[in-house]
Amino acid sequence: MEPAAAGDSEPTPVGAQGPESVSTGDSHSDELGRTLNGRPLSVRDMFRVGIGPSSSHTVGPMRAGNHFARKLACVGRVPSRVTIELMGSLGATGKGHSTDRAVLLGLGGFLPESVPVAVVDTYMEKVAEARELSIQGVGAVPINLERDVMFLPGKILPFHVNALTITAFGEDGNAIAAGTYYSTGGGFVSEEIGEPEGECRVRQLDSSEPEAAGPAPYPYTTAKELLKLCERNGLRLSELVMANETAALPADAVESYMDTIWQTMDECIKEGCQASGTLPGILRVKRRAGELNAHLTRTRGDDPLAGMDWVNLYALAVNEENAAGHRVVTAPTNGAAGVVPAVLAYYLRFVPDAGVEGQRQFLLAAAAIGGLIRNNASIAGAEVGCQGEVGAASAMAAAGLAEAMGGSVLQVENAAEIAMEHSLGLTCDPVAGLVQIPCIERNAIAAVKAINAARMALWGDGRHAVSFDTVIETMRQTGKDMLSKYKETSQGGLAVNVVEC
Ligand code: SF4
Repeated sequence: MEPAAAGDSEPTPVGAQGPESVSTGDSHSDELGRTLNGRPLSVRDMFRVGIGPSSSHTVGPMRAGNHFARKLACVGRVPSRVTIELMGSLGATGKGHSTDRAVLLGLGGFLPESVPVAVVDTYMEKVAEARELSIQGVGAVPINLERDVMFLPGKILPFHVNALTITAFGEDGNAIAAGTYYSTGGGFVSEEIGEPEGECRVRQLDSSEPEAAGPAPYPYTTAKELLKLCERNGLRLSELVMANETAALPADAVESYMDTIWQTMDECIKEGCQASGTLPGILRVKRRAGELNAHLTRTRGDDPLAGMDWVNLYALAVNEENAAGHRVVTAPTNGAAGVVPAVLAYYLRFVPDAGVEGQRQFLLAAAAIGGLIRNNASIAGAEVGCQGEVGAASAMAAAGLAEAMGGSVLQVENAAEIAMEHSLGLTCDPVAGLVQIPCIERNAIAAVKAINAARMALWGDGRHAVSFDTVIETMRQTGKDMLSKYKETSQGGLAVNVVEC
């Protein structure tokens, strides 16, 4: 497969790369992890435990590295050199997003959901110092990070703008194994499996679908279908989603997964609230959550807007943890990881009679909304800008809160629509390629917006002029028209107007 033209040209939009891509993965989702056969994405797809700072630039590449290590182990030879090419958006902002570290951790046998934070913090320094990388199942391979890890922002592969190739070479300089991977957002990864007759063939690597999963009893691909199914079957949105979930896993396993997700979010908030100092990277951004937490705890919320301050605090805490490369829940991405936890924490703290039941309803409704956005547009900043990340998270949180507060199906859809509508056009322009400015504050703003959207929706009867499907399609078109410099390349917007020091 020849790389497409480089430079300023727009990356080829997903799905417009000529010959149809061929899916050889599971029968429920295509090579981008999107729905096939009407099986909606699940809570396990939309909420995943990972590490910061980015689902597409950190979580996905780590999975790719881990996959390549297993592939190399099957070859049965220890290479004399391994190279990593980070292309497109991974090349443009991979340094600030620690994509290099993520791939190395993956090659070392680590996975985002379980790698100890202490290992993450020191890994690069250790590899650089030893000039050697221990590849899981293979052995120690000499590595020169400056030479062997290549950031190639101008090299765009046709299938997706987030691409990486790992190659292992033998003593004779010939490649003994190679793999090209695409990190398509939210931690989803596809592997290229060849290019017969010019076709780009890929398969998704990490389906969350259990092998024995039965068909979803309520398949849908649009919000309109989802609303109709709820109405026809007399189900609340969370009840319908739960019925689909339990076709794949027993109810207690689904509940336990959701409870773990909230527990991880909650721990992340607590960690962020205790931390101080500055975040990694040249911006030396000061962590604020610790001080704000101390202030709010001291004043006990005397201010009439203290509720909003707490929401801001929760979001700042999570996104500062994310920026530090620590453990977060991808919801639906890492850059946007603070919105859902902040609104869910608000629900549990400030809404009377809130409890574990509402907490689960929240996550089920939020997952349905995130899945619709992912299936019909995108949740990757590199594809559609920040509207697909923080905008999507805001819609998910708004729907979750409306559902947990007893909203009707129409009100829940309305809440998601309001939050998404007023996130349209949001660009992705992280300063210095770090997921810090504007990302951290943006999550706090989006969390407050989500609460406002849910409240506005709950005032009404659910009838509204703009449908959620329409706003998703508008977001997709807006993302398609957006210049690539506003799509996670750090070549436009704040990224070029803020002076780095
Ligand atoms: S600006 Fe938005 S999409 Fe871009 S890195 Fe930050 S949070 Fe992600």
